[in-house]
Amino acid sequence: MAIERTFSIIKPDATARNLTGKILSMLESAGLRVVAQKRLHMTRAQAEGFYAVHKERPFFGELCAYMTSGPVIVQVLQGDNAIARNREIMGATDPAKAADGTIRKTYGESIERNCVHGSDAPETAAQEIAYFFAQTEITG
Ligand code: ADP
Ligand code: MG
Repeated sequence: MAIERTFSIIKPDATARNLTGKILSMLESAGLRVVAQKRLHMTRAQAEGFYAVHKERPFFGELCAYMTSGPVIVQVLQGDNAIARNREIMGATDPAKAADGTIRKTYGESIERNCVHGSDAPETAAQEIAYFFAQTEITG
C-alpha cells in the first residue's frame, strides 16, 4: 500500500460540541497520522472557494453559512491508503446511512452537520492541502 496524504476538516458542529479530541482519537486509531493541523475560522470567500465544486447544488449557500458559523480544525493526515482510509472511518455523508463505528454515525447531526470533511481522490487531496497549508507547515 502507498503512503498518502489527505486533507481533513473537523467541522463547526464538532468544534462547537467539544469533539475535537474524540474525533482526532478515532482518526489516529484508524492508523492516520496528523502531519499538519491548525484551528481557524473560515471566511465566506474561503468556504465558497473550498466548496466551489458544489456551487450549483441547492445546498451550497447553507453549506457555506454552516462552514463559516464557527471555528474548524484543518488537518493533513498521512498513512497507508490515507484517502480511502479516512473516507472509511468518516462514514457516509448522511450520518443516518453511515456504518456503525464511523465518525459520522457516532457524532453526526444531519447530512449537512456531519462533523468531518475528507478528500475524495489524490487530485482533490493535493488541491485541498495546498488551499490551507504551505509545504513548510507539513512535517511527517
Ligand atoms: P462528502 O463530505 O461526504 O464528500 P459531498 O462532497 O457530497 O459529501 O458534500 C459536501 C458537504 O456538503 C457534506 O459533507 C455536507 O456537509 C454537505 N451536504 C451534502 N449533501 C447535502 C444535502 N443534501 N443537504 C445539505 N448539506 C449537504
Ligand atoms: Mg465531497
